Amino acid sequence: MIPGAAFLLSLRVDMEDSKKKHIAILGSTGSIGTQALEVIAANPDVLCAEVLTAGSNAELLCAQALKFKPNAVVIQDQSKYQWLKDQLFDEGIKVYCGEEALSEVVEMETIDIVLTALVGFAGLKPTMRAIEAGKHIALANKETLVVAGELVTSAAQAKGVNIYPVDSEHSAIFQCLTGEFHNKIEKIILTASGGPFRGMTYEELKSVTKAQALKHPNWEMGAKITIDSASMMNKGLEVIEAKWLFALRADQIEVVVHPQSIVHSLVQFEDGSLKAQMGLPDMKLPIQYALTYPDRLKTDFPRFNFIDYPSLTFEKPDFTAFKNLGLAFEAMRRGGNAPCVLNAANEVAVKAFLNDAVSFTEMSTLIESCLNEIKFIEKPSLQDYINTDRDTRTYAEASIQNTDVAR
Ligand code: NAD
Ligand code: MG
Repeated sequence: MIPGAAFLLSLRVDMEDSKKKHIAILGSTGSIGTQALEVIAANPDVLCAEVLTAGSNAELLCAQALKFKPNAVVIQDQSKYQWLKDQLFDEGIKVYCGEEALSEVVEMETIDIVLTALVGFAGLKPTMRAIEAGKHIALANKETLVVAGELVTSAAQAKGVNIYPVDSEHSAIFQCLTGEFHNKIEKIILTASGGPFRGMTYEELKSVTKAQALKHPNWEMGAKITIDSASMMNKGLEVIEAKWLFALRADQIEVVVHPQSIVHSLVQFEDGSLKAQMGLPDMKLPIQYALTYPDRLKTDFPRFNFIDYPSLTFEKPDFTAFKNLGLAFEAMRRGGNAPCVLNAANEVAVKAFLNDAVSFTEMSTLIESCLNEIKFIEKPSLQDYINTDRDTRTYAEASIQNTDVAR
C-alpha cells in the first residue's frame, strides 16, 4: 500500500465535497422539500443535503437522513425528538428540536444555500437568520416576502445575499431576466391556472367543498398552497412576492389566467418585447435552477411538445368571484404591515376552511375584515411584523369563534 494513499483518497473526497453546493432544506418532508431531495439525488456531484428539517413527520425525516446523510436535522415537534435522536445515533447526524434550533441551524458554516420550503409566517425568522449569516436563499416560502418583503430584501442587499426564486412564476421571470439585468422591465405578467373553480361565480363558490378545493388540476402541492390556489390568494401572494423580488411598482404587475400552466410567466421590456418561460408543469425544474444557477443541468423531465397542446389559452382573472386577488392587490398598494395582516388572516382562514369552520367565500370576508380592523403601521420593524401577525391571528380566530363572519 502506498503510504499516504488513504490520506490522498480522503483529501480527494473532501475536495469533491467542497465543490458541491451544500443545501439546507427547511421543510424537507413537504412537497417542495421532497422534490428538492429528488433534484439533489439526481445531481450528487453538484449538490448535497447539509441540513434537513421538518414539522412533525419524524419517520420521513429519519428515512431522508439515513439516505442523504446530512450534517444535522431539526424536528419541530418536541414529542418526536427522542425517537429521532435514537434512530440517528449511530449515524453521527446531529439532531435538534424546536423553533429556536431551526433559526440557529441555518447559520452553520458549512451551508451554502438555504431552501425555505416550510409554510407560512414560520419561514420569516429562519430566513432572516440565514440572510444575516450570509447564506444565499432559494425561496419557496413566498409568505416570508409577503409579510416582510422590504425588511428581507434590504437585509439581503446589505449582506450581499442572493434570493433565488423557486416559485415557478418567479423562476420564469428570473429566467427571462437572465442576461437582461441592465434592461428595464415595463411590466411582468404572472400566469395563473385559475385552479379547480375557474369560471364559477361568487354565488357558486359559496358552496364548494374542501375536497373539491384540494384537487388542483395541474399541480400536486401541500394543502395550504392548494387552497390558496383554489381561492386565487396564491396568485395574490405571488404578486406581492414579485414586487419585492424584482423591485416593481404595483402597476407593473399583471395577472392573466392560463389554464394549461405551460407559460410560467412573462416579462415585457421597455422596447415592447415580451419574453416568456415555458415548459410542462414540474416544480423540480425551478427548484433545480434555484440551486444550480447560473448553470442549467441536464434533466430527464418530460419535454413539452406544441403538438400535444394545440391551444394555449389566456383569460382575464375574475376579481368579483375571487375576492382574495383584489384584497392582495389592495394590501400591496397600502404597504406597511397590510400584507402581513393579509397573510396572517389568510393562514387562519385556510386552517378554518380545512377544519370546516368557515365556508370558501367566508375566507375572503374574514381577510377583508382583518385588513380593515388591524392597526396600520407604515414602517414596521421585525418586531412589528411579529406583533401584527399575532394580533391578526387573535382577531381572526375570535371572529370565527363569535361567528362574526357573514354567511
Ligand atoms: P407542504 O405542506 O407540503 O410542506 C411543508 C414542509 O414544511 C413540511 O416539511 C413540514 O413538515 C414543514 N413545516 C410546516 N410548518 C412548519 C413549521 N411551523 N415549522 C417547521 N416546519 C414546518 O408545503 P409545500 O407545498 O411544500 O409548500 C412549501 C412552501 O413552498 C409554501 O410557502 C408554498 O407556498 C411554497 N410553494 C410550494 C409549491 C408547491 O408546488 N408545493 C410551489 C410554489 C411555492
Ligand atoms: Mg407559483
